[in-house]
This record gives sequence, C-alpha cells and structure tokens, in this order.
Amino acid sequence: MTAPVRVVVVGGGPGGMAAAVVAAENGCDVRLLDENLGPGGQIWRGYNAEAASSSPHGREFAKWVRRLEASGAAWEPETSVIDSPAPGILRVERAGRGWDVPWDRLVIATGARERFLPFPGWTLPGVMGVGGLQAMAKSGLPIAGKRVVVSGSGPLLLAVAAALKRKGAKIEGIFEQAPWSRLAPFAVSLVALPGKLVEGAQYRWQTRGVAYKSGWWVKRGLGQSRLEAVVVSDGKDQREILCDYLACAFHLVPNLELAQLLGCRIDAGFVAVNAVQETSVTGVYCVGEPTGIGGLDKALVEGEIAGLAAAGHLGKAAELLPLRQKLRRFAQHLDRAFASRPELRALAAAETIVCRCEDVTYGELAECASGRAARLHMRCGMGPCQGRICGPATEFLFGWSAASTRPPLFPARLGTLAVAPREADSNPREVASTP
Ligand SMILES: Cc1cc2nc3c(=O)[nH]c(=O)nc-3n(C[C@H](O)[C@H](O)[C@H](O)COP(=O)(O)OP(=O)(O)OC[C@H]3O[C@@H](n4cnc5c(N)ncnc54)[C@H](O)[C@@H]3O)c2cc1C
Repeated sequence: MTAPVRVVVVGGGPGGMAAAVVAAENGCDVRLLDENLGPGGQIWRGYNAEAASSSPHGREFAKWVRRLEASGAAWEPETSVIDSPAPGILRVERAGRGWDVPWDRLVIATGARERFLPFPGWTLPGVMGVGGLQAMAKSGLPIAGKRVVVSGSGPLLLAVAAALKRKGAKIEGIFEQAPWSRLAPFAVSLVALPGKLVEGAQYRWQTRGVAYKSGWWVKRGLGQSRLEAVVVSDGKDQREILCDYLACAFHLVPNLELAQLLGCRIDAGFVAVNAVQETSVTGVYCVGEPTGIGGLDKALVEGEIAGLAAAGHLGKAAELLPLRQKLRRFAQHLDRAFASRPELRALAAAETIVCRCEDVTYGELAECASGRAARLHMRCGMGPCQGRICGPATEFLFGWSAASTRPPLFPARLGTLAVAPREADSNPREVASTP
C-alpha cells in the first residue's frame, strides 16, 4: 500500500482550513500549521464554534471547524513557519522549540495584513489598525462609550465600524479615502455577488446615523501622550474631531514572504497560480489573500480547489472554477476601488516616523537613493517586523519594491536556526480542536 500524500498547509484562516479539510477528507495525511492558538485566521479570530452563531459568518466558521475536527487533519497551533532549509522541508518554531516538517504538497494560505501609511501623529497611543482595533476589542479592550474615528480604505472600515458599534463604541465618522467616482462602479459590480451587496447594506444599516464620507482621509493625529483628536480632510475642507481611538488602515497587503522564499512567481503584487491554485513551483499551492485580496468566499473556494488538487482530484477541482473566477473578479474590483490616492503621499512631514522598529523618519528616507540604501544606511525595515509595516509604505511613498525575502520569516531563536535540516520531525501531533 502506498503511503498517503503528505500535505502541509501554512495558515489556519478560511483558505487554509478549507484546503486542509478537503485534502484530509480525500485521503491525504494533512498538517495545518498556524501561529495562532485557534483556527480561523483574521476574519474568525477568537471565534468559538459553540458561541459563533451570533457573530458575522459564525455559522460558516462552526461548519468548517467541525469538518476540520472530523477530517483527521492535524491542527498544529502556535507554530510559526520561519524557513525552508531544503526542498520539501519547512522549518517551524513553537514555544522556543524548532523542528522540520516535510511535505509532498504544500498549501500557502498566509493571508494578508493591513497597510499603514504614515501621517503626523500615527504613532500616538490610541491610533490602531482597523482590524487591529477590532481584534483588541474582541480580546477584551473596553471600547463601550469610547469615541472612535474609522478611516483609511477598504470594505473592512464599514464592517469594523459596525462591530465596534455593537460593542458600544461611539463611532464619530467613517472616512474612506477612495472617491465616490471609484466606489460607485464597485457597488454596481456587486450585483454579480448579491450576498456581498446584502452584507454591505447590513453593515451600513448597523452604522446608520454615522457619517460615511468618501474622498476623505486623516491628515493628522493630535495629542500629547496619547491621541486626543484627528484632523480629516477632503483636500479642500478640513475638520478636527475629538476621539479616544483612531482605527486607520489603507486596505490590505498580501503576506507573500513564504511564497517568495520558496521562489514562487509573483505577478502584479500577488502569487501567480494556475487553475488549480498551483504556483510556479511544482507541488506548492497558494490560496486566499496572497493570490488577490478577495475576502472569505474567495479564500474558501480557492482552499477547496487546492485541497482537491493536492489530493489528485483535478476534475472535481475544475467544477469550482466558475465560482472562483467570479470571486477573483471581485478581488480585482476591490483593488481598483480602494487603491490609495496620490494625496496620501504628501501626508508625512520630515519628522514623521515611517519605520517604527528602527525609528527612521520620512525626512531621512527622502534623502536615500533607493530602498537598499535606506536599509543599509538607516536600517529601515531591518527591525523585528522585517519591513512588514514600513515596506508597503515605502513602496507607496517612494516606489521602492520590497527587499527579497530572507529567512527567518519571523524572529526566531538561534537554536531553531541551527537545527540540521530534517533532523527532527518529532512534534507531537494534536487533533484539530476549537479554541
Ligand atoms: C487584521 C485583519 C482583520 C480582518 N477582519 C475581517 C473581518 O472582520 N471581516 C472580513 O470579512 N474580513 C476581514 N479581514 C480580511 C481577511 O483577510 C479575509 O476575510 C479572510 O480572513 C482571508 O482568509 P485567508 O485564509 O486568506 O487568510 P487569513 O484569515 O489572514 O489567515 C492566514 C493565517 O495564516 C497565518 N500565518 C501567516 N503566516 C504564517 C507563518 N509563516 N506561519 C504560521 N502561520 C502563518 C496567520 O496568522 C493567519 O492565521 C481582515 C483582515 C485583516 C488583516
């Protein structure tokens, strides 16, 4: 009897969960690795299968988590993939211990992060990412009664404003930098996906009474030791709004680092995949946000396709192609609608910090001839976040493309880096379990 195909999935968000479930249900030996405690990724962060039904998309989460538990896929939490020391091997770290995980098929489902652009005051306590503030509120940050301004770009603004309002926050306004001339065609495109239209309308209904201004953006955060107010503008008028928190991010950027490390081709900022989600590297698949920022449904269907393909069921995978195409078109519409406007390049002052890890200012960067010079002379992007925050900002501000990815992908212990390839795969496997 031949041994089952070993499928390793990196990232336990919707895309990774779907890939792991479907591959395991189709006979593969599957390991699902994620740096978090529970499965769910960004959208289902902190969800619990028993209590999820009252949360947005909670029923879907409960369904996938139960399938994951039943599928036999091994759920390996708090496990960060930091390197690939040899072909077919990933190096991982958990709780200060490192070891290698071999794979026959690899599914990259590493999701996305928020894009932050610097403006005066963006480093004040009280200024957070949009999803970041939502995550903090989910983890117990007392938000009830707090005055929150939501700003930046993307559909997350409305979703998070609605979520924070449900928790009792006083939303002082939602300021979307994209102009109405770009939002209108996007809204029309949603006719092809009525579910998304209904979801958007529900969030708007939940935030009724809160001003939603398109073509407006934050110019400054004001405050001494923490945020006290923000100045918003549409380029002509400006107004000051008192607030306790500013939730601000400019749409999302894909987490490409693992794909880049493995040599997968990147096309126009996303991992290039074929009809069954396989990248330019044989046996390596990619699903969800790294192939195009498209949200939950796209991540799920791409995960299912990759799971089927990894298990060798190409015919069944092809049946899901029409839905995937529709959702990929949605991702393209999102990209166009929420692209950052040029005025945002002029927000930072000379003394505004751009690289928070190494305290590098806009003025210092403006004197550098290239991203490489900024790294060498200013250590921009060389701190603990490895350019995850400032990289997308300097790309937008100066046109510097991201540095090539080098291991470790996350800060790791020297002991982990020193393990000889394939030395150990002694990680005790855990069965999938809800948080
Ligand atoms: C902060 C934030 C909040 C969001 N909130 C919402 C929301 O409320 N509603 C909504 O519709 N959409 C939300 N989104 C959009 C979200 O990206 C998608 O809706 C959906 O979660 C995408 O699924 P995914 O599987 O592609 O990726 P994700 O859900 O992002 O899952 C990727 C997973 O991979 C893990 N990972 C990445 N790299 C590694 C590594 N090297 N080793 C181990 N694990 C790794 C991450 O920790 C994460 O758990 C949010 C996005 C962000 C960035």
